[in-house]
Amino acid sequence: MYNNAIPSNSMLVSRRIKTVSGCPRRSCNDIEDVNHMVGSCVKTMQVIALLNKWGFQVPVFDNFEECLTGLQRMIGKQNLSANLFRNAIWLVWKSRCKLVNTKREDSVNFIAAEAISYAVKSNFVNIHQDIWNANRLMLFNHWHPRPLGWIKSNFDGALRRNNSAGVGGVVRDHKGRFLLAFGNSLQHWDAAQTELHAVKSIKFVKRDWMSEALGVLIEGDNLNIIYMLQKEIIRWKVSNAIDDSLDFLLDFKQVIFSFTNWLGNKLANLCANLVVDGSFVWEDLQGTSIPSSFLNCLKEECETLDVP
Ligand SMILES: [Zn+2]
Repeated sequence: MYNNAIPSNSMLVSRRIKTVSGCPRRSCNDIEDVNHMVGSCVKTMQVIALLNKWGFQVPVFDNFEECLTGLQRMIGKQNLSANLFRNAIWLVWKSRCKLVNTKREDSVNFIAAEAISYAVKSNFVNIHQDIWNANRLMLFNHWHPRPLGWIKSNFDGALRRNNSAGVGGVVRDHKGRFLLAFGNSLQHWDAAQTELHAVKSIKFVKRDWMSEALGVLIEGDNLNIIYMLQKEIIRWKVSNAIDDSLDFLLDFKQVIFSFTNWLGNKLANLCANLVVDGSFVWEDLQGTSIPSSFLNCLKEECETLDVP
């Protein structure tokens, strides 16, 4: 698209190869150019809406120029979202070509699932490809009694004086609803190592429903640790060896490690700091022991998520 090399109908008209410049999708009624393909095309909008419904934060753009500046801004901050957006646009185009040639195109569900699958393959990790394929089929079964979405787990570490540190995390479903939070104290003086311990602590609070979820998105605000974890899984894929402290990751159907800035990691940070009052695992919000600072922060993030 950037090189204006996509043979869209408007491009073919400008080269006098075709006479109709409209999008081949009947419901679109719009000229098919790069602005349409990244923005207003019905299929693009449906795929992105579905990905966002599954809990990913894929951007929406009005036109190609806005798309380029938007993606530029996301570099290093929201790589996963940018990656999913690119995959979605590419797959929507592939499906459009299929429509032109065979009069049939891929479903929105299929394209969205493929977009995730490619993101996992190219940038992140895919632990059980076979299970993922089985799950992709499940996505089509709307009657499934328990639709399994992705869950998101944020983690963080906090150093304190006297070589003591806190690690904490919070697990939420694809709509941002609370599932579990934990905090643990340990002796440490190195910030990166503390962060790593925070991820490893997930092992001790792992529940069966986490393994049943479609996948687990693990977010942290230390880029080096995220890279390190990504490499560790790639190493496992090559040599089938994984550090004991990380073997719990193999129980998840899919794992994506993703970087978030500290603003996206406030709750996990709060958990790491709340450890001062002792270690904890919360599985519901009913307990009186849950501090209001945590509840307020959770509520704030739920509101910004704008979920139905
Ligand atoms: Zn269209």
